[in-house]
Amino acid sequence: MVLLRFAPSPTGPLHLGGLRMALYNHLYARKLQGKWILRVEDTDTTRSVPGSVEGIQKALSWAGLDYDYGPGKDGPHGPYFQSERRDLYRSYANRLIDSGHAYRCFCSADELADIKARLARSGSNNTYDKKCLHLSDEEVARKVRAGEKHVVRINDGIVPTRPPTHDIVYGYVRDAHLSLATDPVLLKTDQFPTYHLASVVDDHEMGITHVLRGEEWLPSLPLHLDLYTHLNLTPPEFAHIPLLLNPDKSKMSKRNGDVQVVDYMRRGWEPQAILNWLALAGWGAKHESEQAIPSESSSSSSRSPSPHRLEDAPDSTHLMTLSEMIEAFDLSALTHRSSVLDVTKLEYINKHHLMKLWSNPGGLDELANRVHGIVKEAFKASPYTTVENIKMAITLLEGRLTNIHDIPLHAPYLFIDSDWTSEEAKSMIQNIPTEKRLHIIDAFKTIIQANGWLTFEASSHESIMGALHHEREKLGVSLKTFMGVLRHALTGMKDGPGIIDVVRALGHERTIVRLDAAKE
Ligand code: GLU
Repeated sequence: MVLLRFAPSPTGPLHLGGLRMALYNHLYARKLQGKWILRVEDTDTTRSVPGSVEGIQKALSWAGLDYDYGPGKDGPHGPYFQSERRDLYRSYANRLIDSGHAYRCFCSADELADIKARLARSGSNNTYDKKCLHLSDEEVARKVRAGEKHVVRINDGIVPTRPPTHDIVYGYVRDAHLSLATDPVLLKTDQFPTYHLASVVDDHEMGITHVLRGEEWLPSLPLHLDLYTHLNLTPPEFAHIPLLLNPDKSKMSKRNGDVQVVDYMRRGWEPQAILNWLALAGWGAKHESEQAIPSESSSSSSRSPSPHRLEDAPDSTHLMTLSEMIEAFDLSALTHRSSVLDVTKLEYINKHHLMKLWSNPGGLDELANRVHGIVKEAFKASPYTTVENIKMAITLLEGRLTNIHDIPLHAPYLFIDSDWTSEEAKSMIQNIPTEKRLHIIDAFKTIIQANGWLTFEASSHESIMGALHHEREKLGVSLKTFMGVLRHALTGMKDGPGIIDVVRALGHERTIVRLDAAKE
């Protein structure tokens, strides 16, 4: 069975990049009928922020990404906080020291800076000269006994020829680790492990079969594979996921307010739409570019099927539920390039998820219950913020809503009186003589009341429009003017759903009261 892990560091609220990583882990695990762990990488005590883990759990649960093991969900691989696994890392570090693949380094920060500067002056790219590797065993033992602060470094560079590193997304990668420091630290002076040691130890100890993690760790992969080799362990498969960028191509960071999942939760985006949006950022784009390049097979008359299933690749606005995403997920369809998150795509996707939810059995009730608080907050004193009215509002606005928070903005007139004082409302009737306006309103009242409200309510749209045209012709006004006057009276807003639907949503009494008020 495959076992994956999402391994955030608790350094603040979960951001969109983190949620996307959790999503890809979830999709891949579920696609292969496997499981995934939430592992908390809290070994950098200086960067841990209290409350982060709860925030991450809340965001995952909101998104419907249910981990199988982790905080609050015990399992055979725990504990799931790295700070509670320190003995394990120490024992692995000792194994590496014993086999000569790691050594204790007692150099102070000042000494290290001097060494680095000296190496740089001599034209070397190395950051350390392995000075402490040459300490005698006795000397090391004495320093340890004396309680001298030290780190444990990997004795790197003793793998004579490193085979190219394999990654599921990037393929074979050569020299990916050139940017790493010399002999990277495995255990810090506080005896907490660095990411390199902790992730290798935990991925092995927990039985992780596939590591899906951010592209920023690709340069560390050869080092990690060295650790597996030195410890005689079989490494898992690796897939590095290209980063998400802001639309201005800058890197997404937790410091930037609008990249946090909690902001999207607060703003009422649909969790499935967020997942859909994140999933597609970087998924399928590779196919589009490959498709654009004519290949031998595409120029031949017999069109051979693409090995990457081009025809199935979702485009950047392909609408999917979580289970459809699981079905369609394919690591080989991920792009190698960083992906830009475009909010206009989220708006499109969210709108369609809302429409789908609305049409599902029970979906309208679910939506109305969620919108209830938003509408009550927006129109505190209104007696019309009932769930029934909200259902009416959602139905009326169906297909126009980008986000559930749009309801108070798009149709305030369903909850409070029309606002005729706004510039928008004034501009709607500025070229219509008052007398004409009053006639139009009266004509419409006649239509509504001719055979009683119940008959009006039960009449088809066509028959009401027929009656309306009749009255309009008698008055000699255009349909635009006729409807404009009614829309002004009933909503005070230029755009919106059809007037007959608005009237039905307002009901008899409120419609008449509003029409009369507009005449004054
Ligand atoms: N703690 C690392 C991070 O937050 C996790 C990397 C990984 O998934 O291995 O970037």
